[in-house]
Amino acid sequence: MKKTYLLTPGPTPIPERVLQSQAATIPHHRTPEFEKLFGAVQLSLQSLFQTSQPVLTLASSGTGAMEAALVNLFSPGDRVICLNAGKFGERWVKLAKAYGLDPFEVRAPTGEALGKQDLETARAQIVGPIAGVLFQANETSTGVALPTQEITQWCQENQCLSVCDAITACGVIPLPMDAWGIDALITGSQKALMIPPGLAFIALSEKAWARQSQSRLPKFYFDLARERKLQAKNQTAWTPAISLICGLHASFLEIEKTGWPVLFRRFDVLARATRAGVLAMGLELLSPNAPSTSVTAVQLPMPPEAGAKIPKIMRDRYGVVVAGGQDELQGKIVRLSHLGYMGPFDMMTALQALEWSLCDQGANIRSGSGVAGALQVLTQERDILFS
Ligand SMILES: *Cc1c(COP(=O)(O)O)cnc(C)c1O
Repeated sequence: MKKTYLLTPGPTPIPERVLQSQAATIPHHRTPEFEKLFGAVQLSLQSLFQTSQPVLTLASSGTGAMEAALVNLFSPGDRVICLNAGKFGERWVKLAKAYGLDPFEVRAPTGEALGKQDLETARAQIVGPIAGVLFQANETSTGVALPTQEITQWCQENQCLSVCDAITACGVIPLPMDAWGIDALITGSQKALMIPPGLAFIALSEKAWARQSQSRLPKFYFDLARERKLQAKNQTAWTPAISLICGLHASFLEIEKTGWPVLFRRFDVLARATRAGVLAMGLELLSPNAPSTSVTAVQLPMPPEAGAKIPKIMRDRYGVVVAGGQDELQGKIVRLSHLGYMGPFDMMTALQALEWSLCDQGANIRSGSGVAGALQVLTQERDILFS
């Protein structure tokens, strides 16, 4: 027998009460009972997005909402700038190509962010209008935070739509959609919202809704105009993922006991503590210049063949499930996640399992140095962590 810990940036751990709410007898979706619950969920989503626009709930993984954004906002041949800081930025490029848009890809060096300056450079190379900028608020594959407000502001100044994949940022850092003028804000269920995979969420600004009616890409399942009409009546166009929505309702009840502002401060503490722990072990961050509040990517001090074993040792020997690197980062990093249902003890668990696994592979790390480094931050911030 071994106790296991799920410390990946999606799916994330699920609180007991949330799990139980999904095991209850399923209500039919065309009943006053379900419609009332869905109405409450929609209000909670609006308060998370800080928007007066409806936040639409879709039955799909997060990528479904990314696809929904493209097919509802653009037309064939539209020029879009894709800010590619990793795997998920690359997904925007692939999606845009799949739908016959004309993506202009801006690639960041591994572990770096992209911002206004990169958009200026792109603008200078592009002839003709730019329909939108597609980006991640947080690039999960490299643990990089992109400057969402700066990018959004650039979009407003350059008359194009800002389309923000905030799947691992929403619910971790404040992203006030209306105040910043984000045109499409997207998140998913299995990251900060602490429920299983299967729901995606998207809200559009007034400007984006005006574009929606003119967009000429084909759409059916993800026709957001149709969803908006029905979700205003607490219904959905297709059978909703009822159990997941019940889970989300329970999750919001837990979240709202503490409130987002305090949770945002806690995630900031967990992220700072994790980075401090990593540095105290003598390791390096992949993204020291724009580190994410959601996930910390740690460079492994060994060749990739040995490095690839680290997440496996952490999982198989110590029961701590973390994410490794993908593609060219395979064997070069591990990613320690601190979003969703996570607390300070989880960070200590992750750091200690990392230390033991590295030592198993011959690294020389002072015993307990990671946890001690993290405690430098955590001990001071107990009032925020345990308020
Ligand atoms: C998890 C994630 C997604 C969505 O992936 P799905 O597998 O479709 O849920 C998209 N963008 C980012 C940044 C993510 O972390």
